[in-house]
Order: sequence, then C-alpha cells, then structure tokens
Amino acid sequence: MAHINDNYLKLKAGYLFPEIGRRVREFTAANPQASVIRLGIGDVTQPLAPAVIEAFHAAVDDLATTENFAGYGPEQGYAWLSQVIIDKSYKPLGVELKTSEMFISDGSKCDCSNILDIFALDNKVAIGDPVYPVYNDTNVMLGRTGDADEKGHYQGVVYMPCTAANGFVPALPEEKVDIIYLCSPNNPTGTVATKEQLKTWVDYANAHQAIILFDAAYEAFITTPGIPHSIYEIDGAKTCAIEFRSFSKTAGFTGVRCGLVVVPEELTGTTASGEEYSLNKLWNRRTTTKFNGASYPVQKAAAAVYSDAGWPQVKATIDYYMDNARIIREGLQAAGITCYGGTDSPYIWLQTPAGLSSWDFFDKLLQECHVVGTPGSGFGPAGEGYFRLSAFGDKDKVREAVKRIEQKWGR
Ligand SMILES: *Cc1c(COP(=O)(O)O)cnc(C)c1O
Repeated sequence: MAHINDNYLKLKAGYLFPEIGRRVREFTAANPQASVIRLGIGDVTQPLAPAVIEAFHAAVDDLATTENFAGYGPEQGYAWLSQVIIDKSYKPLGVELKTSEMFISDGSKCDCSNILDIFALDNKVAIGDPVYPVYNDTNVMLGRTGDADEKGHYQGVVYMPCTAANGFVPALPEEKVDIIYLCSPNNPTGTVATKEQLKTWVDYANAHQAIILFDAAYEAFITTPGIPHSIYEIDGAKTCAIEFRSFSKTAGFTGVRCGLVVVPEELTGTTASGEEYSLNKLWNRRTTTKFNGASYPVQKAAAAVYSDAGWPQVKATIDYYMDNARIIREGLQAAGITCYGGTDSPYIWLQTPAGLSSWDFFDKLLQECHVVGTPGSGFGPAGEGYFRLSAFGDKDKVREAVKRIEQKWGR
C-alpha cells in the first residue's frame, strides 16, 4: 500500500475562484441579458509584443535546421538571456549581478514553491495576510505546518497582517523567524514597499540570519520614482535575499512560461552542525538535478522583451494596463470608495463600502453593477472587508464597469 502525503489533506479546498465562478454562473443563468464585466482575473489579456513574436518564430525556425538546432540548454538558462536581463533590467537600478547568480525557469509559481527544497523543515516561516496563496499552501504541502484553524491560519506559520494601518507592509514579527516572504508590488493589495521599509526587513534578516524570499513579479508596473524594483537595491540584501521575477505579467508570458530566480553567491544558510553553506550552490544542485531548462524558443522570446524594439512595445502594454488602473482608482475615489494600490501595480484594493463583508460586496457588485471582482477575504482573514479589482482587462469594459460603480455609489 502506497501511503499518500497526508499534508495535502490539511489544505483547504481551492475555494475562492470556483466559488466566484459558481456565483457568476448562477447570476448569468438568472439574468441572461446582463452584460457581465470581469475585473477579477489575475491573468493578462493583451497579445505578446510583435518583437517577441518575431523572436519566438525565428527560434522555432532555428529548430528546423541542423545548423541552428538547439537541444538541451543549460539547466540554469542560457547566459545570453541572463546577461541581457542583468544589463537591461538590473544594471540601471545600480544592481550588479553575475549570470551564475541567475536561474531562468518556466515561471515564478514553480520557483516560489521549489525554493523550499533547499531549506530544512524546522525553519519558522513568516507569510503576509492577505497573501498570494502559493506561499502558504506549498509550506503546508511540505509538512512545515500543523492544521488550519477556523480562520484558515495554519499552526506553526507566523502570519503578518497587512492592513491600512501599516500601509499594507507587514511589521517585523515579534518571534524570531527564519524565512520571510515579501511581495512588492503586492498581489493582492496592489501596494508597494519603500526603500526604507525594505531596509528594515533586510536589517532584520541579516541580524537574525533569516532569508527573505522577495517576489517581484510586478516590478515592471512601478511608476513612482524611488520605489525599489529589486530587493538588491537595498544595502545588505545580497547576504539575506532571494529574488523571484516573472515574464508573465511584465510581458504577457502567462501562457508562454518564463521566470527567474536570483540567488547571490554571498548568500548562505547553516548546516545542521552550524557551518555556513552557499545557497547558490544548493539551488544550482537542485536545478541541475530536477530541471532541464526553459525551452529554447521561450528564452529567445524572453530576450526579445529587453531588445531595443521589444521593450517599448512591452512598455506600451504595461502603460495600457496602468491606464486602466488609473481609470478604476479615480472612478472609485469619485464614488467615495476608499482604495489603495493601482499606481505601482495592476491591482486596486478597495475597502468595501458601508462595512460590507468581502462576499456581500461581491454579490452586490455582481447584482447591481454586473461587475465581477475578487473578495479580499479569499486571500486571508486580514483581507476581510476588502476587495480586489484587476486592471488586466479591455479598456472600454473597464470604463463601462467604473461608470456603473459610480452610478451606484457616486454622490
Ligand atoms: C502572477 C504572479 C506570479 C507569476 O507566476 P508565473 O508562474 O510566473 O506565471 C508570481 N507571484 C505573484 C504574486 C503573482 O501574482
């Protein structure tokens, strides 16, 4: 008899998006004439940039010839891709990295999860609340936690509430933690951490020999000058932080799949007997054993994101989404609804009017405005009373949705 990994049974059923789907289907069945606008999605909608498509096609053509055929590439990704990312995206921030510190992957969701392979189970983990659910659930699956309480918090995890009171950037935990997840710009709250706030965390991590797992999936959406795009803009981060980036939201690669992890060579953890050991070496060992690299055409397409032709096109799509974000933010404010985010991220996090619960507001918005969003409580108990709207939609639909919300709640 093969025993299963019982830790999986501790997970709450994936409830949020199926439940949203169920309520929307029920509503449209009862109101077939209603034109429902979906601002709940965390997926992009605009096509890949022309320069990216061109590079993608050319790379596929390479595979059709003996001379240019590419088989297995380096497990860590091609150095020509790492180098272009370093030159075009990290150097302008004043961050120096070596290609040996960058690992190209098939996306950040896998990376955020796989990184846990190189850490012992007895580490104490700190996670934001509300949060991108992957951080939480992957720790449960590994067996680092006990059962969930009725709120959905797992025993053994330190949850860091992110609320309006702390500007949605968590305060340092009171008990000592070893691994800290930070996500800025944040999903779901759409808010960002300043250099000073990140410095507090970097100093904490270095003082406690903790590791920060920094998710920068939305860095390309930052518009405010001075907001850090990388944790390595903060002095001391190379001795305490691993950074994740993704081409998914930056360049519309959600269906193409490409991401990266930065593990600086200075970064160490301790062995059971207390000696320091390189995390870069461990991650390299893990990667070469369990992964055979992102595909060649995908890496060619990713390199084109940072080409002279590609970047302005990619940036134009980001600007399109960020203009949607502005329309949503300004419309909500005009309707007297308190909201956060949407200036440095494609998400707007609004406080539900009249003290409605997240799900009550969901129902009201669906029934009275025919607009779909995501209840904040679905991202963690501290998200109760909040609601997420996404800017990844069609502009005309975004305008129409905002008009309906203003008509309903406007003064
Ligand atoms: C979308 C997203 C990612 C990217 O995931 P991929 O697997 O690269 O598509 C990572 N982190 C957060 C918080 C996200 O919202």
